[in-house]
Amino acid sequence: MARIVYVNGQYRPYAKALIHAEDRGFQFADAIYEVIEVLSGKLVDATRHLVRLERSLSEIKIASPMGRAALLHVIGEVIRRNRVRHGVVYLQVSRGEGRRDFALPDAAVAPTLVILARSQPPAKMAAQAATGIAVKTMPDIRWGRSDIKTVMLLPACLAKDAAKHDGAKEAWFIDATGHITEGASSNAWIVTDAGVLVTRQLDHRILGGVTRATALDAAADAQMKVEERAFTRAEALAAREAFVTSATNTVMPVVAIDGQMIGAGTPGPLTLRLRSQFHQTAEISAS
Ligand code: PMP
Repeated sequence: MARIVYVNGQYRPYAKALIHAEDRGFQFADAIYEVIEVLSGKLVDATRHLVRLERSLSEIKIASPMGRAALLHVIGEVIRRNRVRHGVVYLQVSRGEGRRDFALPDAAVAPTLVILARSQPPAKMAAQAATGIAVKTMPDIRWGRSDIKTVMLLPACLAKDAAKHDGAKEAWFIDATGHITEGASSNAWIVTDAGVLVTRQLDHRILGGVTRATALDAAADAQMKVEERAFTRAEALAAREAFVTSATNTVMPVVAIDGQMIGAGTPGPLTLRLRSQFHQTAEISAS
């Protein structure tokens, strides 16, 4: 079965789907994206993802390509046409096409909308969660508005590549004051000796992860203690547990940081409890 992608009003096989060579997404990374988890054919936290999409678009003054209901309809159609039961939907909105010029176009240009869906075997994710992942820390060299979900992901790509070379699955960025900001494609969490979950407060240095927000709700549902504050690499190395949150991984245990074991070097009990609570707390809606 050929995979189908939605591009500007058409559902097409990948080989026939076209984006203009002077699309501003391609030329300038002038685009916003979202990734939404698909669970048993349903969407996880669709409302929070679409609210964040609207916020990101408005922060860089790109017009919404369509309303929320219409967007949900297209997302559902892409999931069905690709027969995705478990996986992710990827959605990208660029400022559209036009003569390559740094200044933003004066006239209203139609944004480019791309939506694709991909299966992700749940057994593979479960196996990864059972062993946990390693992370590698490195300086945060990204721009000053990491709260906007732009496709400007080169620092994240390079960081993940460096992590991979050290046998780690994720990179954790460190700011100029020595505090962890977030993962290259996830939010970073630790559990202190006192059993308190700690994740950085929301500001322009990190993306307000939808999974982070729902994990905070799930932690409240499970009566766990949480602090939203910055933590250092040294505090992370001394933590009892660590984990990352993202739509593709939900709650993923971290068992090593820079080659040093965290806790017993196995997924921590609070992390696993939060992971099992997660989908009970999240919004699950028909696609
Ligand atoms: N931070 C960054 C930098 C990310 O790229 C992502 C995932 N795209 C996240 C955090 C997690 O966000 P979410 O939980 O919404 O997937």
